[in-house]
Parts: sequence; structure tokens; C-alpha cells
Amino acid sequence: MKNKQKIAILGAGESGVGTAILAKKQGFEVFVSDFGKAKVKYKKALNDLGVEWEEGGHNEARILEADIVMKSPGIPEKAPMVQKLVEKGIPVISEIEFASKFTSAKIIGITGSNGKTTTTKWVYHILKNAGLAVGMAGNVGDSFAKQVAEENFDWYVLELSSFQLDGIIEFRPHIAVLTNITPDHLDRYDYKIENYIESKFRITRNQTEDDFFIYDADDELTLAWLGKYQIKAQKLPFSLDTKQKMGAYLEDNNIKIITPNSQFIMPKSSLALEGKHNTKNAMAASTVAQLLRIRKETIRASMENFQGVEHRLEKVLKINNVLYINDSKATNTNATYYALDSMESETVWIVGGVDKGNNYAELLPLVNEKVKAIICLGVDNAKIFEAFGNCVEVMMETQSMTEAVQMAYKLAEKGNTVLLSPACASFDLFENYEERGREFKNAVRNL
Ligand code: ADP
Repeated sequence: MKNKQKIAILGAGESGVGTAILAKKQGFEVFVSDFGKAKVKYKKALNDLGVEWEEGGHNEARILEADIVMKSPGIPEKAPMVQKLVEKGIPVISEIEFASKFTSAKIIGITGSNGKTTTTKWVYHILKNAGLAVGMAGNVGDSFAKQVAEENFDWYVLELSSFQLDGIIEFRPHIAVLTNITPDHLDRYDYKIENYIESKFRITRNQTEDDFFIYDADDELTLAWLGKYQIKAQKLPFSLDTKQKMGAYLEDNNIKIITPNSQFIMPKSSLALEGKHNTKNAMAASTVAQLLRIRKETIRASMENFQGVEHRLEKVLKINNVLYINDSKATNTNATYYALDSMESETVWIVGGVDKGNNYAELLPLVNEKVKAIICLGVDNAKIFEAFGNCVEVMMETQSMTEAVQMAYKLAEKGNTVLLSPACASFDLFENYEERGREFKNAVRNL
């Protein structure tokens, strides 16, 4: 029996259009509404699909007739339309919740403040190498809903933002990974860190004893809040500092992983990606693989030959024995902390952009130890000058990426590193962090 329920979809982007495709296939009556302007490719997709849609405002009466509403992750809970739906008692869910109802594939859900994309792609890489029928979705690639409609995978690796998790009711990942928690996006959570943390832990709420929860045992906020939730899943922590009975840890520069039925060991030095944070991401990813009983040789090879992800500590070029690294995705101080921490030589650091309430104090020891010069690349650099003015020999500023890279070229000496790791959002000078990273790479290649 086909379902005749009405679904209204708020937002005609990747999530919205994917949901429309799946809902139509499942027999729902579909209406898509975008308060702003939808992209041409999505309008075309909706027209091809033959569903009704609108843009530039909401037809409230029509939306309030829906049995269920899918809200795209970009729309805040506080949006007036969402508030009206809540008042009327109409369930407002996320694409992840909706799509998971129509697949029997097992799900690996990955959330956290930093490291989601890297860990998601690393897990996907191992599962592909193992020959599994696996899809990757969430914040990466085609929407989960579209893939559920069009593909027939046994496994999904999903990168889940807190906004996606806010809209879940029954969604249950077989394996959940929480990479870490540091304050981010607080504007969407009434500036209350506890609300943001709550949303991250939602990933565990429907898990059962048959499921697994992988988390960073070195992460203060995760540990502080872990006990407050009734997590039924089997816990598998990972740690760089402490030996674990179950889970992953470092011993004599080897990564060791212990899961209920097996053990795994490999030298940290053969991991494809450097830096402590990537050792953590590797631990999380290989723990997932081991739970799936993937052959150890396959896990080991995939740990060694993963290509990394663009704009995350991406090595661009070596010029005159100076290495240029693009870490444009570092949009908060925690990500930059790990970038600076992994620098192996004196560094010329390009930093700046839109400050999201940054506390630079946590970077001071690393800047003192590793950074010889700072180039501020942003519209307002006052806070950075104030924080680091006394730490480095040279501090300059510019609003042009080309100029920033040329300044860095002049300041760097043989053996140094030039690092773009902004610790800030990119919207003052660039469309997004990808454009910022691409401009950096172009400027380096043009040197
Ligand atoms: P996300 O998808 O959560 O934003 P990414 O994998 O895209 O995470 O990485 C974002 C930034 O955070 C990059 O600058 C990267 O170098 C840094 N990073 C990656 N993994 C971690 C981690 N486990 N802890 C802290 N920072 C990380």
C-alpha cells in the first residue's frame, strides 16, 4: 500500500530536493517551500520530478496542512514557520530521520565539532577498499535521502551536523562516532553550550545494546557530559594518553584497538595523515572498520593510502624547501590548535577572517613555540594583533590572499612552513572556506 500522507519540505537545497525524490517515490504528496531563492539545478530537479514547489516565501496555510514536515538543516528552529508548526503539533524532522525510515542499510553516524569530514571519508575509504556496498552522505556528497531512493547500499557512512541531529526522533545508527566537542554554532543554541552538547549526544539516544558508541576519551566536554546520558550502546573510547580496556589507544608509538572480538595493531608512523588530531581520526575510523570485521590487511592498507581531504592540512607545494599547507577549513581555534601543534618546523602563519567569539589564549603556547611571523588576512584583525603582538618578530596584515602569500614567501626561510589556518570563518573576504583555500593554492602555485 502506498502512503498518501502529505509532506511539506522546507528548503529547496540538497536535503530538501533529496527528500522530495524519496517522498515522491514512497507515495507521499509532496510540497517544497523555500523562503529564499532556490538554485537553478534544484528547481530543475523538482520540475523533472513533477512535484509542486515555491520560492521567495512560505504558503503557510498549505504547509500547515502537512502530516509531517522536513526542515533543512540550514533553517533555524526559531524561524517563524517552524514555530507555527511546532505550536500546531506537526512533527518537524530532519532529512536523516526521514530517509532512515526507508532503508534497511546499517548506519555509521559521525558527528563532532571537528574531524567529521575527515573521519567520514576515511571510514568510507576503508569500507570501499573492503568491497562493501557502501554510500557516503550527510554533509558530504549527494543527500542521504536521494541515495536511499536511488541506490541499494548495505551500509551508509553519514556525516551528521548538530542541526541534522536536532531533527531526529527514531534515527538509530548502528555505530555512532563523536569526534570531540568544542563550542561552535552557539548562535543557533541560545548561546548555551549545554544545548549544543545535548544535540551532539542525540546521536546515541536510540541506540541499543547491540550498537556501538565511539568517542574521544581525552576530550574534556565529552567526558564531562558522558555520564549525564543513558547510553545503551557499547562504549569504545579512543585516547592518545590513556590505555583503554576496550577501544583504541597509543602504546610505544603503535595504535592498538581492542573490540569485543578482536585486536588490531599498527605503527602510528605509517598513517597517511600527520598530526595528533588525525591520529585520533584514524583511531576512530579503524575502530569502526574492526567492528565490521574487515580484514586487518585491508584496514592497515587503507590507513596508509588514504589521500586526505582538500583544505584540511593539505600539503600544496614545496618551494625553495618551504612547505605550503592549506588548512582553510580550520574555522575555529580548536582546529587551528591541532594544525599548529602538528607543525614540525618554524611557521609563518596566515590567520584571520570572521571571528566567532574566539578565545586566542589557548593558542598562545603553540604560537610562542612554533610561529615566527603572523600575517593577518581579514577585515578586522585587531583581536589577533592584541592576542599575539608580543609573541612574534613580525606581524603584518592584508585583505588580499595573493599579497598574504607573497608576504609569507618573503618571510619564510629554507626549512620553514607557511600555514594557512585561519581559526575564523571566511565570509568577510571569500564566498566560503573552499574559495579561500583555492585562492591560497593558486597564489602559491603562482609564486
Ligand atoms: P568537520 O567536518 O567536523 O568540520 P574536518 O575533517 O573538515 O571536520 O576538519 C576541519 C578542521 O579541523 C581542519 O582544519 C582539520 O585539520 C581540523 N581537524 C580535523 N580533525 C580534527 C580533530 N579530530 N580534532 C580537532 N581538529 C580536527
